[in-house]
Amino acid sequence: MIKRILVAVDGSRHADKAVAMAADIASRLNADLAITHALPQGKLPPELEKLSSKPVPKMPPMSLGGASVDYQVPAAVLKDIAENLLEKAKRKATDAGVNNAATSYHGGEAAQVILDAAKAHRADLIVMGSRGLGELKGLMMGSVSHKVQQLFEGSVLTVK
Ligand code: ATP
Ligand code: MG
Repeated sequence: MIKRILVAVDGSRHADKAVAMAADIASRLNADLAITHALPQGKLPPELEKLSSKPVPKMPPMSLGGASVDYQVPAAVLKDIAENLLEKAKRKATDAGVNNAATSYHGGEAAQVILDAAKAHRADLIVMGSRGLGELKGLMMGSVSHKVQQLFEGSVLTVK
């Protein structure tokens, strides 16, 4: 019944738990596993910055004609971080007995990137953390988990 699983990673310890859970389920059910990451938008969280192979350039917010513009992290840095994050998750899955986990990353709104990756993988189960790198600790569930739960037609497992 569960043949194809997608797990979403954002660099949080919750997502690490989701990878462990997804890998365990995939190896027991002999299901195909795909791992996806949506490139972060705006400020780079420190948990992701430390996965960069190169120093991340620090720049103050720029001002263009009076309007202040937030500094954008260079795409090459985001891609390098994504590749390192996905490699780490893939290694974890391989160690748990999963062969050939596929990986992907895309820019865009995180929930949409996850839903698109689920469609591309034809996933019947999405595994994700209940929370991520967000700072609103009082909430039960993060907005990305919430949105994916609402919009995905298959099953979603939110790992605590
Ligand atoms: P919020 O982002 O709403 O402030 P949060 O960061 O605590 O809250 P979510 O972002 O919903 O919570 O994270 C829940 C789970 O969603 C994560 O554990 C991860 O599985 C997935 N997720 C969140 N952001 C991404 C992302 N950029 N790429 C891939 N998966 C993500
Ligand atoms: Mg988040």
